[in-house]
Amino acid sequence: MALIELKQIGVTFQTDRKTTVAVTDASLNIERGDIYGIIGYSGAGKSTLVRTINLLQRPTQGLVTVDGIEMTTLSPAALRQQRQKIGMIFQHFNLLDEITVFENILQPLKQTQLSSADQQAKVINLLTRVGLLDHANHYPGQLSGGQKQRVAIARALANDPEILISDEATSALDPRTTSQILQLLKELNQELGLTIILITHEMQVVKEIATQVAVMENGHIIEQGKLLDIFTHPKQPLTQAFINTATNQAAALINVTQFLSKAPLKSNQELVKIEYVGNNTAHPLLSMLYADDGVKVNILYSNMEILSHTPIGIAIVILQGSTEQIQAAKMKLTNHHVQITQLKLGGTNS
Ligand code: ADP
Repeated sequence: MALIELKQIGVTFQTDRKTTVAVTDASLNIERGDIYGIIGYSGAGKSTLVRTINLLQRPTQGLVTVDGIEMTTLSPAALRQQRQKIGMIFQHFNLLDEITVFENILQPLKQTQLSSADQQAKVINLLTRVGLLDHANHYPGQLSGGQKQRVAIARALANDPEILISDEATSALDPRTTSQILQLLKELNQELGLTIILITHEMQVVKEIATQVAVMENGHIIEQGKLLDIFTHPKQPLTQAFINTATNQAAALINVTQFLSKAPLKSNQELVKIEYVGNNTAHPLLSMLYADDGVKVNILYSNMEILSHTPIGIAIVILQGSTEQIQAAKMKLTNHHVQITQLKLGGTNS
């Protein structure tokens, strides 16, 4: 059984004047140890869906099971206990400004059975883990955004949760700080076995650390699966759009179009997109095409990145040679599990 199971969740908000359907028929299984990205534009229903996990938002429909326990059936006391398994961090940190970093992290420990000495020791441990021991006596106002989020993470970990929900936690941070916070989350995932749910509107964030991803649009989960599968075979237009933004493919295509408007394809040239996943040798292969098949390769765009420890690459290239030569070159690439798509951009000069 998955650590978190959301079954056919629906959430409808009823206010005086209107009814808002925030989430419709959303089902999701999150396994222990996952870093599960939930991506979508603002208003897609991400927060509302994820808040049903600890019943901060009661679903209008559906079942929420955490660690084998159906959440909606719990008494208030049992729910409080179950909620301790779930920590949360937010975009705006939600720290108390009038108390120190140390005291902020101590807050959730005050309600526990731990002795005062143990509470203090735990705060010191947590501060060490997030790299802020030397800031214990600072106030939140004296910290940078990244440091504030580290304090929030330490506070969220105080009750030794099994699950951490990050609701746009890096959205107010610059790219470098975002990366550092994401690396910290990844460390916590690996070292503590913490299951992480990452709500975001940025594919870059998902790409950096998620293992699984669900895409939300208008209250629906429109696509979900392993990060690598979604990234290499996105089905929905919205998913494709998110991925294009993250890999700069749209910008690359504009550049390629501009290039072709100045130097249109000749009759012995073909414009193709090549894509590969895994430990592939696509780039060396490209340079072999000339030697082996007499096909000249002009790389107009190329991008390679590592997702879930797997290299994935894309290139837009012009192949030049006779029809037979190009055919042989394409065959060679295909045999090496490189996917080839012919692109139709700009005009042809024959
Ligand atoms: P996201 O997290 O993807 O930005 P939300 O879950 O915050 O989206 O919101 C989904 C929809 O539900 C939006 O239309 C939002 O206005 C609405 N909504 C969220 N919370 C409430 C609420 N407490 N009362 C009424 N409508 C809400």
